[in-house]
Amino acid sequence: MTLATLYTICWIWIAVGVATFILLQFVTAPYGRHTKSGWGPQISNKAGWVLMEVPSFLIILYFYLSSDQSSFASMLSILWLVHYFNRTFIFPMRIRTKGKKMPFIIVASAIFFNLINAGLNGYYLARFETYSETAFSDWKFYLGITFFLTGFIINQISDHKLIHLRKPKETGYKIPKGFLFKYVSCPNLFGELLQWGGFAIMAWNLPALTFLVWTCANLIPRATKHHQWYKSQFSDYPAERKALFPWLF
Ligand code: NDP
Repeated sequence: MTLATLYTICWIWIAVGVATFILLQFVTAPYGRHTKSGWGPQISNKAGWVLMEVPSFLIILYFYLSSDQSSFASMLSILWLVHYFNRTFIFPMRIRTKGKKMPFIIVASAIFFNLINAGLNGYYLARFETYSETAFSDWKFYLGITFFLTGFIINQISDHKLIHLRKPKETGYKIPKGFLFKYVSCPNLFGELLQWGGFAIMAWNLPALTFLVWTCANLIPRATKHHQWYKSQFSDYPAERKALFPWLF
């Protein structure tokens, strides 16, 4: 595949991402608190998470091991791998969702999403990257790595707090408090957005931007739906709390 072809695929995929963002204003992805029947066969929630996320880990690992990447591209691949190792193999073991299921169609669509996004990024880093050592002293690296690491920490702390709202065998929902929950309903999703924003700034290429567009397309509507759900379920839900971006939205 030539670079021009890769870019064409990215632009088409960005257009599909924007269409998905619009669609998700009207349709709520039926997993987690939004799970409902009528979406076909279901599988275990934990197994669903592993299956959904493993392509993203394996594809980047494959391209990383099978190519001779510069140190900067290797650093990008390793950051991606660390994130997806956690999401695929650690996060599903930590969540307290015993007995919960998710529709297989969600798993299948996430596998498709991850195949394309990891495929585009992995292929670019394996075949077309031209980073030099000076990339490590560029402002894009400093800003991007700051966003990425800050986002990763925010995501980890927030997911940890959410998971531990339930005692081991509980299944219900509570109002999260403390940390960035003081400002927003979904700091875990805010952290994830910050991470991939930072990744796109560091990488400064079209596949990384494409992935950021898709992350926004998935997470902004999800945060809006989570926020509306909290307000509909808890009459004492803090009125000043925003959905995703502190003080703004
Ligand atoms: P949620 O915030 O909905 O859930 C995270 C975990 O905490 C789940 O196990 C959930 O249980 C539990 N939980 C959440 N809120 C409460 C509450 N109020 N009381 C009790 N338990 C609660 O996150 P998502 O499932 O949407 O996402 C999980 C992770 O995956 C996040 O870190 C997110 O950033 C990431 N993600 C990334 C995407 C991307 O495009 N890059 C797309 C989607 C998610 P339950 O499942 O039972 O609701």
